[in-house]
Amino acid sequence: MDSGQSSVNAGQLVLLVNTQLKGEKQWIHRSLIHKGSFWSVKETQSGGSWMWRKILKYRDLAKPFHRVEVFDGETISFWFDYWSPLGRLYEITGPRGYIDLELQSDATVASALTRNRRRHWIENLNKIEEEVQKIVRVGRSGADAALYHIWRELNCRRHEEAASPTTRLLKLIDKNILIGNGEDTFFWWDPWTPFGPLIHYIGCDGPTSMGIPLFSTVSDLCDQTVWIIDGVTQDSFSSRQVWNCIRETKAEVSWAQLLWHKARTPKHAFSAWLFVLNRNPTLDRVTSWGCDVEQTCLLCGTSDESRDHLFFACPFSLQVWQEVLLKLSISSPPSQWDAVLQWLPVASLNRDRSLAVLQAWQTCLYEIWAERNRRYHLGVTFPARKIICLVFSVVHDRALSLALQNPSRQNLLSCWS
Ligand SMILES: [Zn+2]
Repeated sequence: MDSGQSSVNAGQLVLLVNTQLKGEKQWIHRSLIHKGSFWSVKETQSGGSWMWRKILKYRDLAKPFHRVEVFDGETISFWFDYWSPLGRLYEITGPRGYIDLELQSDATVASALTRNRRRHWIENLNKIEEEVQKIVRVGRSGADAALYHIWRELNCRRHEEAASPTTRLLKLIDKNILIGNGEDTFFWWDPWTPFGPLIHYIGCDGPTSMGIPLFSTVSDLCDQTVWIIDGVTQDSFSSRQVWNCIRETKAEVSWAQLLWHKARTPKHAFSAWLFVLNRNPTLDRVTSWGCDVEQTCLLCGTSDESRDHLFFACPFSLQVWQEVLLKLSISSPPSQWDAVLQWLPVASLNRDRSLAVLQAWQTCLYEIWAERNRRYHLGVTFPARKIICLVFSVVHDRALSLALQNPSRQNLLSCWS
């Protein structure tokens, strides 16, 4: 969490870039991107919500994870999408490329495929021409092969005649198909061609032999967005994986195991985490912020309140802490904050008792702070005995719940029974 608020926002925005692109693609293109590409929209453009402008600002963070795969290239920006191994072509040529390759800034890959190859004096431009030719070659052979299969099988099964030219089927499909954006149309199962469902003609081995999965939609076969993480193409977008890539990682802190252990109660662990970081508004901290408040501890009334006093220099808290641990047959536990943190990992060699000690510590922190807040905000006072009973009740219920889920936790439950 210390890695900074901006990083947290960045992670969320990478996710938002994905969801925005997926969920509101058509509306965004029509209203905000117009003829260009998401990657070429100027940050200074007017229009769009606060969130849209934030997304534009964080595009560079998402760029390394985003690729597109060309099917027909109709929806892919020639200059700004990452469709070839060369990367985003605009970053290689700059605006000069528009003139050198005679392709405007809003050109699609499809429009580049229809022009003739040229020779250039600049080597990078020749490399770009070569990438275009690769798409032309692969596209032609891939489409022809697919259509050939369909056509041949169609004729073999229905007419027992020789295969016809693939262009005929292509023309028929062009003329007769009304599939919208193809997202709801299954390639194999829906009657989106003039011949009805293709699975009836090709047979069940068709999906395997043509490499088109059984439940692909027609839109799946069009240009696709691909997310790549650590060089590996992903089946779907994972905000967790992307976040792990972009976040600043640090060595695990020594107290991590004291907080995020297997028997924790989430709200107790969270509260303990804030106390370890000393982020809770104890009265010494409130005073340091310039607030004029009485600093005396509300639990004992004899010293000023601070984290280190509450846990467990305060006589009230110390009584709770000691009596709770007596249940685990631990007498005279340390009472100074730093000493407690050092003692917790070695308090017991037994796994379940060790977990029980951590439960006791976190629950004491939580319930003592709750008592302090009751007194501060509500003026209601519970005696130490009641807090001790509360701690026992809470840890017992938690241990019982764990034991019901996992019988191997029975020993933990017996620590509190
Ligand atoms: Zn006190």
